[in-house]
Amino acid sequence: MDISVLASGSSGNSLVVSSDSDALLVDAGLSAKRIQSALHEVGMDAERLSGILVTHEHSDHVSGLGPVARRLGLPVFATLRTHEALRSRIGDGIDAVVIEPGTSHRIGGLTASAFSVSHDCADPVGYTISDGDHRVAIATDLGIVGRSVRHHLSEADCVVLEFNHDERMLLDGSYPWALKQRIMANTGHLSNAAAARELVALARGPLSVLILAHLSRDNNTPRLAFETAVGVLEKAGRSDIHVLLAGKGETLGPVDLGNGTCGRGRRAGAGRVRSKEMTTICTE
Ligand SMILES: [Zn+2]
Ligand SMILES: [Zn+2]
Repeated sequence: MDISVLASGSSGNSLVVSSDSDALLVDAGLSAKRIQSALHEVGMDAERLSGILVTHEHSDHVSGLGPVARRLGLPVFATLRTHEALRSRIGDGIDAVVIEPGTSHRIGGLTASAFSVSHDCADPVGYTISDGDHRVAIATDLGIVGRSVRHHLSEADCVVLEFNHDERMLLDGSYPWALKQRIMANTGHLSNAAAARELVALARGPLSVLILAHLSRDNNTPRLAFETAVGVLEKAGRSDIHVLLAGKGETLGPVDLGNGTCGRGRRAGAGRVRSKEMTTICTE
């Protein structure tokens, strides 16, 4: 199984998980044109996609959803309340499939399950996607990690986890206080420190690939997020875990979950990263 991140962060989110036979897009927060060019960049034939899973209705996750779904003829999977929130925004001609938290859907050779997360929108979810051999868990846009989220993350060998902000940078930064409060709320975004706390438990499980995602451009740096994650994992004796950074305006992948390396794609994106390689990746 492979995973590629087409974009990550407040300017747009989309990733693709694929097995030998099937592929699923998760979110479509870029224009249809940019999604298609990013798919091309990571070596993914759009014809192989079987559907689009939507986490929530914020525009950085759905801005290209309608056009992509119509152009590629793909069903859109989301919770009922997310579909309702999207209805007026993505137009007609969409094959809307309801996926409720706690249920699994077999989509081609892949099994997708949604789990509820805490975020300021109608009915936000994360997803796990499995081909029977590997399991990817995706959790971005969440203010806190509850017991159910923790459980889903702990069963995955690849976790895409939000490392949104450094709390000190956010507090000292120029955002209005109301926005700072929104980001720090239980329905906001996960800080580096909060995400790192989860890694302590994940380090005891099957985790082999960790992708740091949804980094704030203003209130975080790739280096800070990376060093926070790697520091925790090394302390837990898990320096074998591949830590990768998504975003930075580049695609990442495809990352082969068999060995954690960026393989067939044209660009390795933000990095195939181990701690010793970090200096070559985050030099800004
Ligand atoms: Zn977002
Ligand atoms: Zn959001």
